[in-house]
Amino acid sequence: MTQPHFQNVAVVGAGTMGNGIAQVFAVRGSQVTLVDKSEAALERGMAAIEKSLGRLLKKERMTQSDVDQTLSRLTPVSSIADIGMPGLVVEAVVERPEVKSVVFTELDAVAPPETILATNTSSISITEIAANTKRPDQVIGMHFMNPVPLMSLVEIIRGHETSDATVASIMQATTDLGKTPVEANDYPGFVSNRVLMPMINEAVFCLMEGVATKEGIDTVMKLGMNHPMGPLTLADLIGLDVCLDIMEVLHSGLGDDKYRPCPLLRRMVAAGCLGRKSGKGFYDYSA
Ligand code: NAD
Repeated sequence: MTQPHFQNVAVVGAGTMGNGIAQVFAVRGSQVTLVDKSEAALERGMAAIEKSLGRLLKKERMTQSDVDQTLSRLTPVSSIADIGMPGLVVEAVVERPEVKSVVFTELDAVAPPETILATNTSSISITEIAANTKRPDQVIGMHFMNPVPLMSLVEIIRGHETSDATVASIMQATTDLGKTPVEANDYPGFVSNRVLMPMINEAVFCLMEGVATKEGIDTVMKLGMNHPMGPLTLADLIGLDVCLDIMEVLHSGLGDDKYRPCPLLRRMVAAGCLGRKSGKGFYDYSA
């Protein structure tokens, strides 16, 4: 295996996205420190990686030795103070500006001065996140798609101060992972969620207004538009709370009423019906 673009990487947040991101860097050959403040989340994250590698082994896309070596490159830790000397940090904590702000202040204090600090945020301004650091030129959006090991796109978002050198390095690191980078500028929702979320939100309006059943809406988009899954099924996969948070960011950031979150989406989040992760969303996953 050739040398990876970044020899040492830290991933902060071991949830849905963080464990996938840690996995793809470790598969490529980087030493990866996976950080989560919750020990339980770290254990779940490491278990998710083992399960995912197990599936790749079964499909003969990896050998047992590849799996063992990948696992040996992963170090779970519970504090940002223990990230070591990574060339790149990818932050994937919850989509809350106040949480990311604290995490970036801390990362800026502990990471070596040359380290690039990337965020996997779906919708928060890269420029605002970068403002918590003394190195805004080395802060960038590296927006992986879910599930990370399977999806080839990474949206690369340039904050107001992000340098060309940072963009070039992250574009190269993305290609090095076997993924396709696409550059976007720092406006609410970037490209992916600016286009995707209003579509999902509109599907929820269709359901609320009785335009069609949930199965009907999903089938129209699947068979009619050739989408691999319907928008309501996709919302359940993403998490309805995440969808609502992103709609709020679009609504407040762009100030146009066409981005108002659907009242049914709000009601479902308030009821704790968050999709797959809670066992129930538009569909029932309790079985
Ligand atoms: P998640 O809730 O599954 O995981 C977040 C993790 O961050 C949790 O394990 C939590 O314990 C940890 N965490 C919270 N505060 C922390 C801190 N201060 N230090 C260390 N760890 C901390 O969330 P997720 O779905 O993986 O989303 C993570 C990020 O990725 C968000 O910014 C989200 O918008 C973005 N994203 C999500 C998806 C998706 O489909 N879920 C897709 C693309 C991008």
